[in-house]
Amino acid sequence: MAVAERAADLNPAFRTEAFIDGAFVPAASGRTFSAVNPANGKVLAEVAACDAQDVDRAVKAARRAFEDRRWAGLRPLDRKRTLQRFAELIRANREELALTETLNMGKPISDARAIDARAAADCFAYYGECADKVYGEVAPTTLENLALILREAIGVVGAVVPWNFPMIMAAWKVAPALAMGNSVVLKPAEESPLTALRLAELAQEAGIPDGVFNVVPGLGTEAGKALGLHMDVDAIAFTGSTEVGRYFMRYSADSNLKRVYLELGGKTAFVVAHDVSDLDAVAEAVAGGIFFNQGEMCTAASRLLVDNRIRADLVARVAALAPRWMPADPLDPSAPAGAVVSREHQQRILKAIDGGLKEGARLVAGGTAVREDSGGAFVAPTVFDDVAPSSSLAQQEIFGPVLSVIGFDGLDEAVEIANGTVYGLGASVWSADLGAAHKVARRFKAGVVYVNCFDADDITTPFGGVKQSGFGRDKSLHALEKYSDLKTVWTRL
Ligand code: NAD
Repeated sequence: MAVAERAADLNPAFRTEAFIDGAFVPAASGRTFSAVNPANGKVLAEVAACDAQDVDRAVKAARRAFEDRRWAGLRPLDRKRTLQRFAELIRANREELALTETLNMGKPISDARAIDARAAADCFAYYGECADKVYGEVAPTTLENLALILREAIGVVGAVVPWNFPMIMAAWKVAPALAMGNSVVLKPAEESPLTALRLAELAQEAGIPDGVFNVVPGLGTEAGKALGLHMDVDAIAFTGSTEVGRYFMRYSADSNLKRVYLELGGKTAFVVAHDVSDLDAVAEAVAGGIFFNQGEMCTAASRLLVDNRIRADLVARVAALAPRWMPADPLDPSAPAGAVVSREHQQRILKAIDGGLKEGARLVAGGTAVREDSGGAFVAPTVFDDVAPSSSLAQQEIFGPVLSVIGFDGLDEAVEIANGTVYGLGASVWSADLGAAHKVARRFKAGVVYVNCFDADDITTPFGGVKQSGFGRDKSLHALEKYSDLKTVWTRL
């Protein structure tokens, strides 16, 4: 069956109610909001618009589940088996989940299948595997004492996630939190609530007990804020913009001082030294780095910093590749890019492009909306040269397919420009001189650095930022630290 027909078949299957205490329920207010397909502007479903009342119900359910230890008190081996069943169910339903993701947020179906659904399943499998491998410690005290250092679940974790990789961002938070025995209340982005609700159903089928995993779709200013301010949420794991990250710090200060972990925006510098051997390979990596996922990537290679000696050559090659990333119908398996997440977001991106022109940057590719007949929100892959490092084009996160090229003379200047934004998430350096490249890698103020590659990824490595890109790390064994606490138990021998 053609992908488009499968998509039509799926519509009635969307889960649209909140998932609280093991049941799908409408918002207490009865209100809903529209989940829209950004590729054609049509409403896919009306989804429960949760507010503070629903968040409170979900947090109470999560608290009950945590305190009676129906999950935290299981043998770790059994939590592991359950999370692995969950991972298998995600794999078994990969096609449906990928289609739902594509319909709801516009990314190409081939990416949703090969990356989003697969990575979400792998993440649950990985953290499931960890569930029975986390040990406490014995402190090196005198013989008169025994001091145990226990690692315990925190309690109720609120996870608030964005729309660019809805399933993966949710999995990065929910999987380690559940592996450690916590209960979770997940607030998906209002632009992309549908896969989170289906995941809740699969979690229940896998045997995760009622109340342990809850999903409250709704607006950030209602459901997100209520979770941030709730007096009985022990930790918030947030991925999203730096602006909203600040709110979560305030919510914590204004409520119960819940711990807050923030994975925020970025403005990755992709630094190319004059001595790179294969400019075509570099150009391919730059284009993929900024145009993949419509540029809706926190680590998107949005600033190309290139030695002035090779700049014209590299810019010409990147501009020549841009049309290959021209967005198409996301349901077309050969589409290299799809729709941006919404009409509003498309307008924000176009405004940033307009701002770049006004600032005097030179447009060398794209710069416009495309596929307007579709009714959807698409933006052509866009390249600006002659971008001033201090301009808003080079400083502000656009979160769209817009590349800013900045020239430099020597790697010292490159490092200074690379570090010259408020962000510190990703950075990349390319050089034939591996020693020089590694010295630059150490000087980058960034949480994730790529040397002669871009966007390599694996669940085993920590991911997150420094400066105003946030703090705390997703992925790897280190993520478990966010969802557990140390308790010291003394015994006089
Ligand atoms: P966003 O900050 O607008 O929204 C993120 C989440 O916060 C959503 O669930 C939203 O509903 C909620 N929210 C919005 N306003 C809120 C408020 N006032 N109070 C409480 N909750 C609120 O971000 P977005 O547009 O969904 O996603 C794009 C951003 O996410 C970009 O800045 C991107 O860099 C960032 N991001 C970061 C990472 C990372 O790992 N560092 C990964 C992916 C995306």
